[in-house]
Amino acid sequence: MPELPEVQTVVSDLQKVLPGKKIEDIWVGWKKSIKHPKTSELFKKQLIGKKFLSAARVGKNILLYLSGNTTLLIHQKMTGHMLYGKWKVKNGKWNAVGAGPHRDDPYNRFLRMVFSLSNGKQLALCDMRKFAKVLTWPTSDLGKLPDIKDLGPDPTNKEFDFKKFKEVIGSKRGKIKQTLMDQNIIAGIGNIYADEILWQADVHPFARVEKLKDKKLKDIFKAVKPILTKSIKMRGTSSSDFRDASGNKGSFQKYLKVYKKEGEECAKKDGGIIKRVKFGGRSSHFCPVHQK
Ligand SMILES: [Zn+2]
Repeated sequence: MPELPEVQTVVSDLQKVLPGKKIEDIWVGWKKSIKHPKTSELFKKQLIGKKFLSAARVGKNILLYLSGNTTLLIHQKMTGHMLYGKWKVKNGKWNAVGAGPHRDDPYNRFLRMVFSLSNGKQLALCDMRKFAKVLTWPTSDLGKLPDIKDLGPDPTNKEFDFKKFKEVIGSKRGKIKQTLMDQNIIAGIGNIYADEILWQADVHPFARVEKLKDKKLKDIFKAVKPILTKSIKMRGTSSSDFRDASGNKGSFQKYLKVYKKEGEECAKKDGGIIKRVKFGGRSSHFCPVHQK
């Protein structure tokens, strides 16, 4: 699933190309991805003719601000990603025009929604597993939307210091990994980065938050920003389906230390072999030697 660095990559890409473009038409291939308004007809009615103002990230949500007090919110969920480029309909199917990742990378071929823009290009939602969520909302009322209002602080924010981290996490109970991934506690961290952060901080993913000493909390905090910012710099992790708006892969997978490294020697050279344990349908990767 795209996490903070991947969503940030897409948002930065879209911010470069969308402002000023008008939505001229919308093709909806999978109506269920629209969560608000109730029908795709209403959805189209609210958006066609509106102009993109800017793009922003809130947690793992992409917010596309439009004219007319309208915001288009996209949560990419499992396999969704936003592509920007040029497609044409041929025999009832969207085909990318010209060679390149949009046409040639099979992960970019699952178009579920296509916004045709005033410059002749398209913004497309590509989503193999169809879990992505799209909705419109009045911009002035975004603060009332549960997707936004319930989110915890953003860990890449300047104000997110150790004091804030301790304040949001220190009062919680439960497994540290789950706590880090809880969007209402901290927004943006998911499975990949929680594994990487805890490996860096020498903390077992199932360690109980209420039992962690200050020193350990500090080690975790110290791992959060550097890992997330380095991944943003590397344009995210594409260990499976994530692609940027041009359809290209990120490259942080080259820097992963523990995520999907099951059976490999621990990069801390402590003799540990990376283990994978399933919990709540998700895999956790850790080194049994230095993450006790
Ligand atoms: Zn180790």
